[in-house]
Amino acid sequence: MVYVSQKNELIFPISEKYEEYLIDESKFMGNAESISFPKNEDEIISILKIMKEKNIPITIQGGKTGIVGSAVPLEGHIMNLSYMNNVKEYEILEDGTGTITVESGINLIDLKKEILRIFKEKALFWPPEPTETSATVGGIIATDAKGINAFVYENIQKYIKELRVVRASGIIEVVSKEDFNKVIGKEGITGVISQITLKLIKKPSEIWGISFFFENEEDASNFIDAVRNDVPKSETAFIGAFEYIDKTSLNLIEGRKPTMAKIKELPDIDENFECMCYIEIHGEDEGIEEIAGNLMETAAMYNSDPDTAWAVSGETEIEKTRAFRHAAPETANLFIEEKRREDKRITKLGTDMSIPNISFLDMIKKYRDGLSKYGLNGCIFGHGLENHLHVNILPNSYDEYLKGIELIREWAKYYLENNGQIVCEHGIGKLKKKIFEGMLSEEFINNYKILKKEFDVDMIWNRGNIL
Ligand SMILES: Cc1cc2nc3c(=O)[nH]c(=O)nc-3n(C[C@H](O)[C@H](O)[C@H](O)COP(=O)(O)OP(=O)(O)OC[C@H]3O[C@@H](n4cnc5c(N)ncnc54)[C@H](O)[C@@H]3O)c2cc1C
Repeated sequence: MVYVSQKNELIFPISEKYEEYLIDESKFMGNAESISFPKNEDEIISILKIMKEKNIPITIQGGKTGIVGSAVPLEGHIMNLSYMNNVKEYEILEDGTGTITVESGINLIDLKKEILRIFKEKALFWPPEPTETSATVGGIIATDAKGINAFVYENIQKYIKELRVVRASGIIEVVSKEDFNKVIGKEGITGVISQITLKLIKKPSEIWGISFFFENEEDASNFIDAVRNDVPKSETAFIGAFEYIDKTSLNLIEGRKPTMAKIKELPDIDENFECMCYIEIHGEDEGIEEIAGNLMETAAMYNSDPDTAWAVSGETEIEKTRAFRHAAPETANLFIEEKRREDKRITKLGTDMSIPNISFLDMIKKYRDGLSKYGLNGCIFGHGLENHLHVNILPNSYDEYLKGIELIREWAKYYLENNGQIVCEHGIGKLKKKIFEGMLSEEFINNYKILKKEFDVDMIWNRGNIL
């Protein structure tokens, strides 16, 4: 095509070499004609100008770890930001915290390394951490992603000082707090986040991770409900994460464990166990011990033998148990990847819904009933105290995949009727837009339409996402 510039090598035609950029972790495959890897804001603007002249839509990509197809192009041009991964500046503040200004394509692994290198013994961190560490800061902000610690550290907005966004007009806008909501969680439809100043906070002085195992899901659910109803606290520590992993997920993880470097040394899980709860406690040792003792007692009341629990502390060990939790979505995605090789129409089919006002037990029963009614296999993991589980349908055929969509719609209808939320942290992208067709409220859609009109009337950025 004419617009492919050979001279300055900013834009490349799509060839086999770039095929991996047509797909993300949702395993939804798209199409594009060209791709670029800008190295700075000036290059973003040059590429934008070329595309705009020809009304070619641009799909923005970070780490492509998204699971709703929002970084997958349907047509046109791909702008991949992985080369924009530098630290621009940083500041150590008087209260011992700090800020770091980064280009948006930096991923979490590199961000952590840079924070460690720059702030050394100050032991600072950036709390919004989805478990996937190859996600970029730009992608995390664009999807409003949340990690296992989200219910403690709360909103991503608290940890951003300033953003720079390249709008469709070609103007760079410095966005501050009042306007964050026009960028955060908008899946790139209002422009490219090019640079971000992140607020870093002090790490908790200690973290313990305790994994409790249960021989049946009902006991585990009652345990979660008991903790939810009376969350143990102490003066100097708090529960920092509370994750649930079911039997199907445990089986998927155990099956692949020998090939997964970070977790292969963890002990094998007894076959009698049906599920586990992974709990982190953050704070000072004494307070942590108090909460741990309380949790041990409650878990024992629901038939989890404290002698079978894994208890770890220290960053290296915590990293391993976090990696075990992360292996739940990872192995579910690998299952889908295998099925996709048999039938290209199969993609990830996972829920991202939460419902505040029913018990965990009732929620999980609803999921189990649905899976059995439709004759489907699915794995379940997610955030226990927030009643926010990710049910991943594991279809063996396209027919089962279609049934899975029907089932997710049925659950979504129930959640909407009962004050639940059907999209929490993964976004809508292209996949959920299709799955939830006709279910997203007019008000919700209108908000996006208003933003599009304000910032990108020609629909240059991320055409096909949400709207
Ligand atoms: C195994 C696994 C586990 C996961 N666990 C979690 C989890 O615990 N919590 C959670 O919330 N998510 C989770 N995710 C989903 C995913 O990691 C997040 O959605 C992540 O934030 C996406 O970041 P990314 O850089 O990969 O973005 P991409 O996938 O590349 O893009 C996602 C969206 O952001 C837009 N975008 C990317 N960069 C920019 C930018 N600079 N400017 C404007 N728009 C941009 C893209 O256009 C797209 O719409 C998981 C994914 C995997 C594969």
